[in-house]
Amino acid sequence: MTYMAVTQCGKCGAAIRYIRMKRSGKWMPVNAKPVEVTPCIGQDKGGHTFVTLDGEAIRARRNKEENLFYDGVDTIAAYESHFATCPEADTFRRKKG
Ligand SMILES: [Zn+2]
Repeated sequence: MTYMAVTQCGKCGAAIRYIRMKRSGKWMPVNAKPVEVTPCIGQDKGGHTFVTLDGEAIRARRNKEENLFYDGVDTIAAYESHFATCPEADTFRRKKG
């Protein structure tokens, strides 16, 4: 099983789901709906963690953000880490920046 049913964040009440990470096998809370993102490559240190539909952790930007480093990388659908958007994320763990 890779996905869990949509549930609610216990902190902020947002709709989230858990997805199993391919490499670690751990369950990661992500926002329930996938969004379109542009994976970060090369010198691009922007964006934050997203999880592909396959459970692969990637660093990417939401397409609504300006992407100064766009280099012809295709956009993909991915789940945004709920840690990155939860207003109560600090109560889970510290953001790495
Ligand atoms: Zn939350």
